Amino acid sequence: MSSKQQSHQRVFVVTGANKGIGYEVVKKLSTNHPNDLILLGSRDQKRGEEALVQLGSPSNVKVLVLDTSSKKSIEQAKEELQNKYGGHLDVLINNAGIVKNDSSLKALKDTFDTNFYGVKYMNDTMSPMLRDSGRIVNVSSGIAAMTMKECSQDLKTKFLDPNLTDSQLEQLFAGLFKAVEEGKDPATVGFNPVKRSAFDDYFLLYYGTSKLGVNTLTRIEARDWEKKYSAKNVIISAVCPGFCATDINGNAQGGRSAELGADSILHAVYTENLENGQFWRDGSQLPLGSK
Ligand code: NDP
Repeated sequence: MSSKQQSHQRVFVVTGANKGIGYEVVKKLSTNHPNDLILLGSRDQKRGEEALVQLGSPSNVKVLVLDTSSKKSIEQAKEELQNKYGGHLDVLINNAGIVKNDSSLKALKDTFDTNFYGVKYMNDTMSPMLRDSGRIVNVSSGIAAMTMKECSQDLKTKFLDPNLTDSQLEQLFAGLFKAVEEGKDPATVGFNPVKRSAFDDYFLLYYGTSKLGVNTLTRIEARDWEKKYSAKNVIISAVCPGFCATDINGNAQGGRSAELGADSILHAVYTENLENGQFWRDGSQLPLGSK
């Protein structure tokens, strides 16, 4: 492929795409963009290759080994993009996510490493490669706003501060980590679980707080883009895919298809003149957080 051809080819990266909603996103992108390149992110090479075979091994999809909880893995993925795929990027979909079903400090750390820091490091690392009119979609959850609603008034005010920086945002979570480390109730530092009888309160608190981080980060990243990067007209969105029956929730009864979740994400990729830094589900705007 000549460099001229390559520069016209759009490059899409989807993290956590070996199954679930991310897989469906890649499937749709692969059909919609026969002449572009879609990189199917998978933390495990074999699971990535199996997903590629399941897709029918289309020529426009390649596996990108990428564990978003590892800075080293993110750096390696960046090098692969630079060395093999032209060093530019048009659409980044931060979809990888986990739920840990316990309330230990390790569960809290693991949840944040993938769901929050994974998104932050991916964007910090990949954004310099993004081209004009690029899009970043940070996959979040409706539980983010529900989680903020349960936070203390002091924390709510801090999360919603329009001047909040990304390092100040990280500091807001330090109290939660310290409380869990010391065996204290997170409520003592202003973090209260969303009440839902079917779930263990604390793992939902960790998950919800990590996604609250994603929503707040999205707003900050959109606000600060022009100060940091040269690409013009870049839109950064958070998206809830809706409640879908996938492995993350044990294929819960009543969940909709992962394909519909993928459509919700792709809305933020395809809609023109989308308001920057906002949170969407199925094309409708949701509050980034709720008082
Ligand atoms: P799945 O469990 O089906 O898929 C999650 C994907 O993320 C898998 O490919 C998994 O890989 C990957 N993954 C997990 N951790 C990492 C990591 N550290 N690095 C790279 N990949 C990783 O869940 P869904 O498809 O449902 O979830 C997709 C996103 O949607 C998540 O961010 C989730 O929080 C969000 N979401 C989902 C909802 C739902 O109802 N399903 C509702 C709201 C939000 P592996 O196979 O290796 O585990």
